[in-house]
Amino acid sequence: MITSTTGPQPADFADVRATNLAVVLRFVREHAPCSRADIAASTGLNKATVSSLVADLIDRRLVRETGLTENRVGRPATMLVLDGSPYAAIGVEINVDYVSAVATGLAGERLLTWRRSFAGGSSVSQDVAAVAAVIRRVVGRMAKEERQILGLAVAVPGLVDVQGVVRFAPNLGWRDADISGDLAKALRDPGFSVQVDNDANLAALAEQRFGSHAGAADLVYLTGEIGVGAGVILDGRLRRGARGYSGELGHVQLDPDGPPCRCGRRGCLESMAGIAAVLRREPSPAEIQVEIEEVVRSARAGEAATLKILESVGRGLGRGVAVIANLLNPEVVILGGYYVPLAPWLLPAVRDEIAGRVLAPGGCEVVASALAHDAAALGGAARVLDSVDSGHLPGGASRLT
Ligand SMILES: [Zn+2]
Repeated sequence: MITSTTGPQPADFADVRATNLAVVLRFVREHAPCSRADIAASTGLNKATVSSLVADLIDRRLVRETGLTENRVGRPATMLVLDGSPYAAIGVEINVDYVSAVATGLAGERLLTWRRSFAGGSSVSQDVAAVAAVIRRVVGRMAKEERQILGLAVAVPGLVDVQGVVRFAPNLGWRDADISGDLAKALRDPGFSVQVDNDANLAALAEQRFGSHAGAADLVYLTGEIGVGAGVILDGRLRRGARGYSGELGHVQLDPDGPPCRCGRRGCLESMAGIAAVLRREPSPAEIQVEIEEVVRSARAGEAATLKILESVGRGLGRGVAVIANLLNPEVVILGGYYVPLAPWLLPAVRDEIAGRVLAPGGCEVVASALAHDAAALGGAARVLDSVDSGHLPGGASRLT
């Protein structure tokens, strides 16, 4: 037997094994139904290793055999698909006027979608208690289905640092709030991870995994809530910036002589193309939904004043999107939130502005989100699934090969 003092240490074996389990899990996610031989051929892992890894994933109930076989030359092969029946990922969005919760299975199938009205912004502790109550009900529902929670990620409209502390959420009135710590306490250390992230970032993850341009390596998501923020995915990865604060597009100044903005300056994107610009006044959180529905009705009826406002908002938005397109050259910019119902009237002006302002040949595609108001909460579940796909696997005894 040859021993080597420079060989991998036990910790390295565990790392390699976790990495390889994740490689196999991702392959099955993308290519199921597939055989062990398919996995070996595509990943470069040898067949014995693949068999051991698959056995481990089956033990953890992340993968199962279908019993179906594929007829090929030689022996028929047993096919593998994702299992995940004992698990659920939870995503929650806290906004000024509502809380949304989504639970998905391992394959991303929707298990639950809730939206509750919410009077946020009274105090952090009251807000946390109210949100924790919603989460407890979701966890209870999943427990009834005998599903273990893979993790929880919560979307917040504000600046969230890389540790998950909400530094500033102006519309909720939160400053330096450790929401993940407070929620974990309110949930009495629930035994799963509680992460907090910016709403635009999580919505971008949802688009990348579930949206109309799923799989796009370069996409930008724009929230169309009371604030306007951008979630940026470049080269397949979410880009948070040095401290986690990238994407504050709402306060990029487009016109120094433009309308006053809540930040005290003039002509920011939010003042020219935010929901306040659509409604021509500072919206009251409780009324936005109804007021936007009224704008849609009026636009459908062809009322000239409404069409003029939407055209002007679309032009402002187009100028903002052109900044993104010139800077980042994304494949697509996806408009979310309240922009979705308004998109039929906004998009022509947005596209016209882009055509005149973006240098890149082919410009930049702009579409309305197909995920609508669920994007940020769904992105919370996507972040949990991303964590599983990168090797944080639940269940099972760890084996050594
Ligand atoms: Zn501003």
